[in-house]
Amino acid sequence: MKYEPTTKLLINNEWVKAKDGATFETIDPATEMPICSVPRGRAADIDAAVQAAHAALSGPWGQMTPFERGRMLNKLADLIERNRERLAYLERIDVGKPVAEALGDMNGVAGCFRYNAGATDKMEGATIPLGQNFVDYTSLEPIGVTGHIVPWNYPLGMAARSLAPALAAGCTAVLKPAEQSPLTALAFGELCIEAGLPAGVVNIVTGYGEEAGDALVRHPLVRGVTFTGSVETGRKVYLTAAAGIKPVVLELGGKNPMIVFEDADIDRVTTDALDASFGNSGQVCSSSSRYLLHKSIKEEFLTQLEKKVAGLTVGMPADNPTLGPLVSKEQYEKVMGYIEQGRRDGAKIRFGGGRPAGLNRGYFVEPTVFANVNMSMRIAREEIFGPVLGVFKWNNEAKMLAEVNQVEYGLTASIWTNDLSTAHRTAMAVEAGFVWINEVGKHFLGAPFGGFKRSGLGREECFEEMLSFTQEKNIHVRLKPVKA
Ligand code: NAD
Repeated sequence: MKYEPTTKLLINNEWVKAKDGATFETIDPATEMPICSVPRGRAADIDAAVQAAHAALSGPWGQMTPFERGRMLNKLADLIERNRERLAYLERIDVGKPVAEALGDMNGVAGCFRYNAGATDKMEGATIPLGQNFVDYTSLEPIGVTGHIVPWNYPLGMAARSLAPALAAGCTAVLKPAEQSPLTALAFGELCIEAGLPAGVVNIVTGYGEEAGDALVRHPLVRGVTFTGSVETGRKVYLTAAAGIKPVVLELGGKNPMIVFEDADIDRVTTDALDASFGNSGQVCSSSSRYLLHKSIKEEFLTQLEKKVAGLTVGMPADNPTLGPLVSKEQYEKVMGYIEQGRRDGAKIRFGGGRPAGLNRGYFVEPTVFANVNMSMRIAREEIFGPVLGVFKWNNEAKMLAEVNQVEYGLTASIWTNDLSTAHRTAMAVEAGFVWINEVGKHFLGAPFGGFKRSGLGREECFEEMLSFTQEKNIHVRLKPVKA
């Protein structure tokens, strides 16, 4: 192995085994072989981590000025950049990401810490004018210990996205990575220690969702939870958190439309669509998986798209293909099941639809394009979370928009037209938390990201996210009247 993984839990800046010694294997999805074993943390380990995080609130971390906190987060960003190769390697073997994609993700992780580092000393309160006899002001205080539960599709990226603002706000944290992808989280723990974060500020407990994840949400000293994952699990997390009256940010799934009008630049859309639909092998919450093409350009669009999809490569992540494998056997079977379902429901495969030739091991799936899709089909409404997209043809804008909004998700939408009025009218009509016009798939720090409807609650990747880790205190002072 080029870089050795860290295989212990990080609690109070110490590397420890699970209290009962249990472990589980993490698998390389490109080879189907185990990489190593990591601790199977359970409620007792979560309790130790939360207690450490709680104690850290009143230690050096709590006394640090916001500026010093920012400097420490910048130092962490420096270390992430310096260790980019190692982190990208671990993410590649753990989840099957092509080399370039994994390296690119690490730039995003460092950027996230930098963005939030710059925000630590900008959490300002307000003064409320109540007349000369009073002073009334607010201060924003950290909510306390925060729990972070993340999925496997961008293991460190998703962790950074909520950890960085929580730390910037002065909170402490317990991170529970996905069981499919524990390795970069643990390596990140080493960098937290090297950056000088005081003991207990960041704690990392690997384990299963129903055990470690549930215990984290439930723990009475955890004051806020950020969950990224499926709607089904998000609902459980929300209900559990509600019992403890805890604020929750939920970043859930998507079934995201790409709407193409007759005046769109088809060459541009079909080029950008490749990354938007097949990047990370389609395992992206914001990925475009429904193409709604105006009738007049549908054939031209599909001809161009097919040529470009034919140029994509699927293969071993170390060889830097366009698509690596899916993350796990379970995900592979789920995606293959949807492809079969699409066929059975009468959609027509225009491209792909199976396992790429020559790849007999590993969870590889060809980029797949279904045509003749309609809203009665499951592949039209449910999140597949793989390299599979469905094409719809339309010629009535109102009906098309009704279909766009017919699904239960509302995460992203992409609109392609050169007509200003059409673009804005459509952007206002779609039920989605993030809308791109003549752009797709890109995230920008500062631009709020989050879902409408069942795609989630709260916003990330923006200044407001940091504020969500604070609670507002109002301080009211009655002044002594001046004697005449
Ligand atoms: P998942 O819901 O199965 O698991 C996510 C995390 O929740 C894992 O760490 C898991 O261990 C944990 N978990 C499972 N059961 C739990 C429980 N009862 N209590 C607490 N934690 C529990 O999701 P997944 O398959 O890992 O991820 C894929 C999903 O994530 C997709 O739906 C995707 O769209 C979504 N996602 C959303 C965003 C976003 O920003 N909106 C980003 C990435 C992924």
